Amino acid sequence: MIDTHCHLTYAGLAERVDAVVADARAAGVDRMISVGTTPEDAVAAHALTERFPGVVYATAGVHPHYAGKVGDLFAVQAALAGLAARPGVVALGEMGLDYYYDEPAKDVQRRVFEAQLELMARPEFAHLPGVIHNREATDDTLAAIAASGVAGQRFVFHCFTGQPDEVERILAIGAMVGFTGIVTFNSAKNVADASDRVPLDRLLIETDSPYLTPAPHRKVRPNEPKYVTHVAAFLAERRGMAVDELTAATDRNAEGFFGLD
Ligand SMILES: [Zn+2]
Repeated sequence: MIDTHCHLTYAGLAERVDAVVADARAAGVDRMISVGTTPEDAVAAHALTERFPGVVYATAGVHPHYAGKVGDLFAVQAALAGLAARPGVVALGEMGLDYYYDEPAKDVQRRVFEAQLELMARPEFAHLPGVIHNREATDDTLAAIAASGVAGQRFVFHCFTGQPDEVERILAIGAMVGFTGIVTFNSAKNVADASDRVPLDRLLIETDSPYLTPAPHRKVRPNEPKYVTHVAAFLAERRGMAVDELTAATDRNAEGFFGLD
């Protein structure tokens, strides 16, 4: 099983990463993608790919929360481009827009997002997919992607938290959709309903750990890649499938989308 989105570099996981990876593997989670949220964080995630080859993969991007810290866009593009060329780095992002919070300002977020889309449009990165963070910003996120000219099939909308009609719009551009423990929450019926709309070949599972521990362990902090098993079990049950059947499909999707070996 593959946890397609976690943050092994974050407090709660980073200081005991050997145990976190070992516990994941013992639970059947044999590979995980540690997503970079700033250039510095992506360097740390990349270091984990060397420490756990073939088990931990990394991505390189600037999360919208950190868009305000970007001074020179060209310098950030150069840093991300250098990282994206390294073995073990399997995607650009996470990048995108988050309008849940007022800061950073929307135009600041958009500029940093567009700079990363521009990297994806470069021929040397045509093989790399993009990890999208979208919270309450579906219109602008889809518009930025359309304006970039990058094919919709190259994106995953990670941690989907919107309404069923929004998932339809994301599917319509050809993107993949990732679900975290939120899909298991009683308070998020809309997310479970949206998951029903996602064809099996467009579905990815993830933890977004150290956040968002799935039911039945919601109170456990931090979340860890091993708990992606509960996201898989929930979605399998919902679809009337065996867990093995579902994870065979989501593993195949992750391997193909991120080009994992
Ligand atoms: Zn994340």
